[in-house]
This record gives sequence, structure tokens and C-alpha cells, in this order.
Amino acid sequence: MNQYDVAVIGSGPGGYVAAIRCAQLGMKTAIIEKYNTLGGTCLNVGCIPSKALLDSSHHYEDAIKHFEEHGIDIPGEVKVNLEQMIARKQGVVDQTTKGIQFLMDKNKIDVFHGLGSFKDATHINIDSEGKTETIEAKHTIIATGSKPSTLPFIKIDKERIITSTDALQLKEVPKHMIVIGGGVIGLELGQVYKRLGSEVTVVEFMDRIIPGMDGGLSKELMRSLKKQKVKFNLSHKVKSVERVGDEVVVKADDKKGQEVVLKGDYCLVSVGRRPYTDGLNAEAAGVKLDDRGRVEVNEHLQTNVSNIYAIGDVVKGAMLAHKAEEEGTMVAELLAGQKPHINYNLIPGVVYTWPEVAAVGKTEEELKEAGVAYKVGQFPMRALGRARASMDIDGFVKILADKATDEVLGVHMIGARCADLITEAVTAMEFRASAEDMARMSHAHPTYAEAVKEAALVATEDRAIHI
Ligand SMILES: Cc1cc2nc3c(=O)[nH]c(=O)nc-3n(C[C@H](O)[C@H](O)[C@H](O)COP(=O)(O)OP(=O)(O)OC[C@H]3O[C@@H](n4cnc5c(N)ncnc54)[C@H](O)[C@@H]3O)c2cc1C
Repeated sequence: MNQYDVAVIGSGPGGYVAAIRCAQLGMKTAIIEKYNTLGGTCLNVGCIPSKALLDSSHHYEDAIKHFEEHGIDIPGEVKVNLEQMIARKQGVVDQTTKGIQFLMDKNKIDVFHGLGSFKDATHINIDSEGKTETIEAKHTIIATGSKPSTLPFIKIDKERIITSTDALQLKEVPKHMIVIGGGVIGLELGQVYKRLGSEVTVVEFMDRIIPGMDGGLSKELMRSLKKQKVKFNLSHKVKSVERVGDEVVVKADDKKGQEVVLKGDYCLVSVGRRPYTDGLNAEAAGVKLDDRGRVEVNEHLQTNVSNIYAIGDVVKGAMLAHKAEEEGTMVAELLAGQKPHINYNLIPGVVYTWPEVAAVGKTEEELKEAGVAYKVGQFPMRALGRARASMDIDGFVKILADKATDEVLGVHMIGARCADLITEAVTAMEFRASAEDMARMSHAHPTYAEAVKEAALVATEDRAIHI
């Protein structure tokens, strides 16, 4: 029987990073993945393919809406070739997942393809094509991730009533896509199809989109998406989704309790994701799950069984690839006797719509609730030369700083390239910078990053230069 220092179950960003770090630290490592390709949700049906389609659809939108103003004339009609767009996306996915296989080989990690299930706390069965192989592991890291969740009364048929996984491989551009859920995934994929020509209606239970992020970001993103003609039904409780031939009928109650009926040809159900432990046989190892089906872990990401750890979407916390990666690294380093630490307050959150939305640290709502005295520095993107040059003028950067000490407590931004800009805020906050520290740093001109400097100037002593 093969024996390992560490077995990692699941090859998403949590699992494969954990495996690489374990191998780097000298541990004999195995990784088990039930699908044929490595990389998990993120690489196969999540972050990477959704960004590939966002990029392609953005090019199309630019071509039909903005090229003329830039002085670029295209003779003839610009058309979407969805088959090619999906094929390019798949090419990006294939290249990326093969890259993970390369990294496994490079780090001498044994890869097993098959369903991993606990036989007991130190033995894992791997089932593949009717055959079972058992390996022994001193330590196991559960990194089995998550799957799309739905509402109990919705039957996903994967054709017209679909999840994000199906939305990444549609064969036609929907005429009217009804998106249930105004969170990150629904808005990103909704925007892809809106740009390609679909009518898109978002139905959201809460009274705002991207709930959980700072309220100012929700408002500005909604304003911008409305300009792009995305429709919103907020404070609507969906009560049924039925397929009638090629039509999908969604019924919801608005906040006054009145029934609203929406008809479309596709319904994207994006109401969140659930932790995934099906087939893992966690009971055989004695591993406890919590009341939400997540693997229960302590602050060291250790389960109630001392040699078994869990990371990523299958444990509590934000369901984000980079959070899973940090946790994978942390567990590997703990196993090697090091003392790693994750600052969960500084895990940034990003929405890759255009304008992009990004945030780190506390929201205004959280600071108010905690009774923290804070000051706000906000600067509009439209005041930047760079934004006018590219015509990406929507959005702002908002910096929240402690009223007494000037320490930066939260940074919330919406605008062009904010997904990349947020790293400056994470860096500053890791070093516990004050708003004045950020304001005194030189920011290249002309860049969108100048909005960060200007917002910091406003937060420090209300002395922005360009407004
Ligand atoms: C459409 C979409 C877009 C997203 N975009 C972003 C984004 O832009 N940025 C971001 O940070 N996050 C994004 N996410 C979320 C991100 O994909 C997840 O947070 C991340 O993949 C979690 O990583 P993980 O390693 O915990 O699990 P996963 O990536 O879910 O990987 C788990 C792996 O374990 C395997 N597995 C499960 N059970 C077993 C078993 N018993 N035996 C063997 N293998 C098993 C699964 O097959 C899977 O490959 C997106 C998600 C979706 C759906």
C-alpha cells in the first residue's frame, strides 16, 4: 500500500496549493481528484472560464459601442460567434488545468484520479472505474470545495433552468435571461450575456445587489448596470420557477406581497454555493460537519480528528479561490512545524463586472454597527485623466480610516481595473498604514491608482488635489 505524509482530497486552488507547499516542505504528498482534470471549480467551471467570457464579451461590447468614438470604423457588421467564444474559453481552461498537472509532476506529487473516501482516519479509498485502491496517510487535508446550491422548489434541468456551470457553455445567446440572485456570480454571468445581446433581469431577495459589500458599492454598481440596461427586481422573493416548453416562468412576490411573473428563455439560478462532502465518507474517519454541512475546523483549520485538516469552500468563511490558497499554504506550514497566520479581515473581495468592484477590510455598515468612529475619503474616477482617456468614468474609491488614529480600516472601490488596484490597499493595511501614509506615496500618472491617493488625501484632511 502507498504511504504518504499528506494526502490532499480535492485539486481546486485550496488542494493543489496545499499539495505544492507540502511537497516544497519535504513531505511525501498525494492528491486525489474525482474528475479527469485538475484545478477544481476555479479552473474548470469558476474563476477562469467566467473571466474568459467576461473578457471576450467586453471586446464585443467595445467593438459595437465604443470603437466608433475612438475613430475605429469596422466595415460590415460585427457579430458574435458564440461557438468560437466558448471554444476559446475552453482552450484557456485546458491550458490552465494542464499547467496544474505540470506543477504536480514538477513537485513530485502523486496524482490519483478517482473519488476519495475515508476508510478510517489514516486510510483513504480511491474509487475509479469500478476499482478501489487504498492509500495510507499520516495527515489528510480535505479540500473538496463546493457546488452550486439551489432553492428547494427549483429543479435545475441544465438546459433552460441552469447554474453557473451550464451558463459557461450555452449554445445560443438567450433572448431573455432571468438571473435569480444579485450576487457576484449572477452579475458577472448576467453581464456576459447582456453584452452579447440578451435582455437580462436580475431578481434579488435582498433590497440591494452584492449584499455583504459596502452599500456605496452596491448603489454605484446598480446605477452602472442599469445604464447598461440590466433590469433589477430587488426585494423579490422567488416562489416558483417552471419550464414551459422553451420558456421559463419565474414567479416572485414583491415587497408588498404582490405576485410578479417574469418570462424568459433561460433562468440562471445563482443563489450561492454549498459545501461539498458527498461521497467523502467523513463519518468513517469520525470527522464532524457543522449545521450548514461544512467541515468543522478550529483556528488551525484542524478538524475534531487531530491528523485531518480542511480548507477552502468546504469550511467556514468566504468562498474565494485566494482564501482557499492561503488556507492550503497555512495547513502545509503548520504540518511542517511553522507558525503561519491568515488575516481573514484582509482577504479582498472582487466582482469582475465592468466597472469592477473590489474591497478589503470593514464596510461602513460594519464600522457603524461596531460603534467605531471613522472618517471617509471618497474620490470619483471621472476626475482622473486616465479615466477620461479610456472613457471608463464610472465609479469611485472610498477609504475608511479610524477617526482618532487615521489607520485605514476599509477600502472600497468600483471602476476600471479595481480588481488589480485593490492589492495596494491590502498591502497598506497589512502594514497597518494610515490614510496619510497612502496619500504620501507617489502614484504613477496617469493611472486609475491616482484615485486611491486622492481618496486617501480626502480621508486624511479633506485635501484632494483634483476635485
Ligand atoms: C462561476 C464562478 C466564478 C467564480 N469566480 C471567482 C473569482 O473570480 N475569484 C475567486 O476568488 N473565486 C471565484 N469563484 C469561487 C472559487 O471558484 C472557489 O472559491 C474555489 O474554487 C474554492 O476552492 P477549493 O479548493 O476550496 O474547492 P474547489 O475549487 O471546489 O475544488 C474542489 C475539488 O475537489 C474535488 N472533489 C470533491 N470531492 C472529492 C472527493 N471525494 N474525491 C476526490 N475529489 C473530490 C472536486 O471535484 C473539485 O475538483 C467562482 C466560482 C464560480 C462558480
